[in-house]
Amino acid sequence: MYLRVSVTDRCNLRCTYCLPEDARFSDSRAAPEEIDALMGAVCAAVPVSKIRLTGGEPTLSPDLERHVRAAAWLVPTVGLTSNGVLLEQRLADLRDAGLNRLNISLDAADPAGFQRATRRDRFAAVLGSIRQARKLGFDPLKINAVAMSGIDPTALARLAVAEGVHLRFIELMDIGEAHNGWESRHVGAATIQERLRSDGLRIHEAPECDEPTSRVWHIEGVDPHRTTLGFITTVSAPFCSTCDRIRLDSRGRLHTCLFDEAGVDLLSWLRAGDEHGLVELIRRTVAGKAPPPRFRREGAMAAIGG
Ligand code: SAM
Repeated sequence: MYLRVSVTDRCNLRCTYCLPEDARFSDSRAAPEEIDALMGAVCAAVPVSKIRLTGGEPTLSPDLERHVRAAAWLVPTVGLTSNGVLLEQRLADLRDAGLNRLNISLDAADPAGFQRATRRDRFAAVLGSIRQARKLGFDPLKINAVAMSGIDPTALARLAVAEGVHLRFIELMDIGEAHNGWESRHVGAATIQERLRSDGLRIHEAPECDEPTSRVWHIEGVDPHRTTLGFITTVSAPFCSTCDRIRLDSRGRLHTCLFDEAGVDLLSWLRAGDEHGLVELIRRTVAGKAPPPRFRREGAMAAIGG
């Protein structure tokens, strides 16, 4: 299984599809040592081969390096998804702690587009983190962009080629702030592909490189070891049958699907010291993993980690 752990629900950006300007965050969170203990309990209960730390914005946690170290004891692959704003200075320590996969979210290839998407002026900081990550040898380095009206997919693809990173378009999901005008903002992968082609990029599917949750495409003339395009088609072609993701949120609740709003409270069992009960609960919860009744979630993506 692939475990994603939200170490905090707080964020320093206000992406228009994720959080309102006056976002409120949870006042009860698991303590850092409790998050590590719950990661360990999940790994003891079910086979986990990969852990990804996310948020909110995980770099807002002063304990991120310790979470990476804890995860690296448990599994061979430890990833991080970050908006990159505060990442550059911490990357070397994170790598030394055991981080070996990195995704940075970026919805625009220029400062004005970045400001429109995130309501903040931090494009240069994110680009700095991308370049530092390349310098430190993070490979593959992935950039996540949300596919929605108003983005410039071709400019993002050109930036990905220039920086030598892999670009993945995530279809806008009907979650949290994205409810506002979701139907007009959502853009399917096929539309993005058409737009890339009409802007002159010669792209083609590379199904042999597909991942469980993304379809991979190559750009003619571009080394696929450096840059590929990926499409996460949660909306236009859901991939529940190959999804092996489970999620632990920063309140210590386990979710077997992104659209599983409530999750199951693990923290109370941990605090009660009932290790056996906790492991059994995790096993039962994961055994019940199933496609969602509907692909919609009220709470923000930041609350569960994306
Ligand atoms: N703060 C980190 C970041 O920006 O990468 C990690 C958390 S963020 C919630 C994880 C990913 O979810 C980001 O790539 C973000 O763009 C994506 N996301 C948030 N809301 C979304 C939505 N409604 N539909 C699709 N992706 C969304």
